[in-house]
Amino acid sequence: MRMGHYWLPVAVGDGGVRHAFRGRRWEGESAAEAVCGEPLALAKPSEMDWITFRSCHGCRCALLIEAGMRPEVVYGDRSRSTVGKGQF
Ligand SMILES: [Zn+2]
Repeated sequence: MRMGHYWLPVAVGDGGVRHAFRGRRWEGESAAEAVCGEPLALAKPSEMDWITFRSCHGCRCALLIEAGMRPEVVYGDRSRSTVGKGQF
């Protein structure tokens, strides 16, 4: 069975990125490895962090692949959309 995941904004410098993490929810860990493989220091995000941070592309792609979807189709990346056509 696959573990669930949750999203959490991670501040980096002046901005930040929303990464996905394994588990049900953030339990207050000070560090964790995101789904994209990046080790990150975690802190309680503010309301603005949720609104302003963009989602991590690596995490989204990894979760899409796990869900059986092709990221290049979802993102409309035409340069790669013909690669492997017919395999699905
Ligand atoms: Zn990520």
